[in-house]
Amino acid sequence: MNQVTHLVGLTQAELTALVEELGEPAYRGRQIFAALHARRLRSFDEMTDLPKEFRARLSESSSASTLTVEARYISEDGTRRYLMKTHDNLPVETVFIPEERRDTICFSSQSGCPLQCSFCLTAKLGLLRTLTAGEMVEQIIIALNDAYGVGAKTPHGTNLVAMGAGEPFLAFEPLMKALKVMSDLKGLHIVPNRVTVSTAGIVPRIRELATVEDRPHLAISLAAPTDELRNELMPINRKWPLNELLAACKEFERSLKPSERFTFEYVMLDGVNDREEHARQLANLLNRHGLRVKVNLIPHNPADPLPYHPSPPERVESFKRILESKGINAFVRRPRGRDIYAACGQLAARRPANPQGSALHQLA
Ligand code: SF4
Repeated sequence: MNQVTHLVGLTQAELTALVEELGEPAYRGRQIFAALHARRLRSFDEMTDLPKEFRARLSESSSASTLTVEARYISEDGTRRYLMKTHDNLPVETVFIPEERRDTICFSSQSGCPLQCSFCLTAKLGLLRTLTAGEMVEQIIIALNDAYGVGAKTPHGTNLVAMGAGEPFLAFEPLMKALKVMSDLKGLHIVPNRVTVSTAGIVPRIRELATVEDRPHLAISLAAPTDELRNELMPINRKWPLNELLAACKEFERSLKPSERFTFEYVMLDGVNDREEHARQLANLLNRHGLRVKVNLIPHNPADPLPYHPSPPERVESFKRILESKGINAFVRRPRGRDIYAACGQLAARRPANPQGSALHQLA
């Protein structure tokens, strides 16, 4: 795959420049862009509106797709998890979550993850490699084609969340490039306003995002209200402790429009971070920094060998009530696709041996 350009990761302008270098007119670039992103074709052979000779030349130096789908798992709640492989044989996972009025695709920014969060199965893989912009865009194309058919219109809007495997802010450049490519009106047309990027707290990138004009929404995984506990659950906290993280969040908040909010994600681990005292500490912490945020409470998604269990529903509710009593907007997130290892923190290229209530489909 060396020296082969993955065309899915190029903007329309870059694609046009590339075809001109090959001695072709600029409109061929626009044609290829539409074929890849609007028609969602994954091979040059299918682009029959391009001359055969040109397709042959293109395939000598470039590729229309590089990911292969190894398996697709369908949850009893309709969630689909795709296990893919990169050209260099690394796992990539993507989750399609159908909802009544919109669909959400959760995509990966890295194969594996270097950040060792103790409640996350992906951490067990370590970092295998950061994905390219093209590999991020291709995940969305594959999921949409599978859900609706190749190139078929999607019935309602698609939201994206960069919450799959990896720390998106350690893949900042390819991520921002992928978002730019996907926002093109002549292609997928998924604008940054429909995208949420979740970070474990890479402070310099939070500050950088605050300066970006057309940017995705931000979510920050908090998991603990004190440095002591957060150091244990999310070791990245040793590098950027809570005060530094929340100061960067405040700076980010200043860049938002009055109606905009960003989100804190709080995974709820039974007996670890879910006591009433933790809820009070969390509310006080957020109020001390004067943040007008909302908090999503996410019951932990268990998976062997992680040593945690989800907080019982009544404890999640009482945690939520304490936050609300102190003026913090809190919501409980319903887990999706737990039975097929598709839920938050469960992506680790697992193949459920006998997925209860779910259908296993092996794709070619
Ligand atoms: S929770 Fe996110 S940042 Fe932490 S190890 Fe898992 S994938 Fe990486």
